[in-house]
Amino acid sequence: APAFDPAVLRRDFPILQRTVHGRPLAYLDSAATSQKPAAVIDALAAFYRESNANVHRGIHTLAEEATAAYEGARARTAAFLGACEDEIVFTRGTTEALNMVAWGWAFHHLQPGDTILVTLMEHHSNLVPWQQVAARGGFQLRAVPLTPDGRLDTEAFTRLLEAHRPRVVALAHMSNVLGTINPVPELARQARAAGAVVVVDGAQSVPHLPVDVGSLGADFLAFSAHKMLGPTGLGVLYGRRERLAEMEPLLGGGGMIRRVEVDRSTWADPPQRFEAGTPPIAEAAAFTAALDYLQRLGLEAVAAHERELVRYAWERLQQVPGLVLYGPGPEHRGGVLSFTLEGVHPHDLAQVLDGEGVAIRAGHHCTQPLHRHLGVVATARASFYIYNDRDDVDRLVDGIEKARRLLAGS
Ligand code: PMP
Repeated sequence: APAFDPAVLRRDFPILQRTVHGRPLAYLDSAATSQKPAAVIDALAAFYRESNANVHRGIHTLAEEATAAYEGARARTAAFLGACEDEIVFTRGTTEALNMVAWGWAFHHLQPGDTILVTLMEHHSNLVPWQQVAARGGFQLRAVPLTPDGRLDTEAFTRLLEAHRPRVVALAHMSNVLGTINPVPELARQARAAGAVVVVDGAQSVPHLPVDVGSLGADFLAFSAHKMLGPTGLGVLYGRRERLAEMEPLLGGGGMIRRVEVDRSTWADPPQRFEAGTPPIAEAAAFTAALDYLQRLGLEAVAAHERELVRYAWERLQQVPGLVLYGPGPEHRGGVLSFTLEGVHPHDLAQVLDGEGVAIRAGHHCTQPLHRHLGVVATARASFYIYNDRDDVDRLVDGIEKARRLLAGS
């Protein structure tokens, strides 16, 4: 029996009460950003209505409340991940967190000729920053290939580790296109044994699976609040204490220093060292409400719900003539399904579905090398979260059938 009922949860999400083109909204784009429950929206408003002030340094009551809300969010995030509070850095999002590691850690610790290992399924945000530091520092960038069914080629991974002894291994925990869940604990163990620092893009995993940094075994883990019921403009960089201690700050300014002279400064300890300027305080306060909401459901239950939905969607979509699904079967994936429909451009497909009130995404989903590998310029992507159910999948399939009748073979 399911641990929660999506139809009941939907009542907590104001936006899911609206219609699109006269139809109830079937929101199947949570991999891009999730919707927000009233508890999160209310927490954001409550902060501005009742406690708004800048954090730290303040002696007055509001400043103390704002600091408690902000540092409380850090403690809450640490508990959510099984980390320590000083290992949690708040950023603007996954992208900023990954750039911080590339420039703040890798750029300063690698030597010219050293290798950075990524994978062919990376989002541009876990690829482009590595290209940028590699170009500046004279490092080599290599990508782990995929198996024909869209999983990471783990034998090639082992070979690349041995042949190139990469100093950094950067990989997604879950692909935002293929849905593939990579076996990070095993890969991280191997990579660290081979001398690499392991950077995990958790943008698609932390919102959907139980993730404990102890069992994950990575050095760094990046993710975004907005994909897990929280507000935009807030992300998290988890870093092992010893890694953060040896990382340089990207931004200088208020709040990140120990002592400032006219011509030089020394840095505060992590995590403050990496949080120059006024941080996203209201967003952090609201993120606490998002974590509370998710933890009340339980991440095991969230993952089980999505597994069940993906199995159902996989079966139904496989029966649509001319539809090609990308990525591994339901047993190796999370709640993201990318596909193409013969004779119909993904953008046209998304347009027809929008007319039915079904929101999906079409394009390269910030993974151009992966799409080149798949041999397509674009795919359509449906992604699930706690508020989706079989009815949403049925409406997706009906919409695809309609697009096929209208557009295919013309
Ligand atoms: N990595 C993956 C796997 C993602 O899906 C995304 C969001 N599409 C990102 C990184 C970037 O996240 P953000 O835009 O919140 O920085």
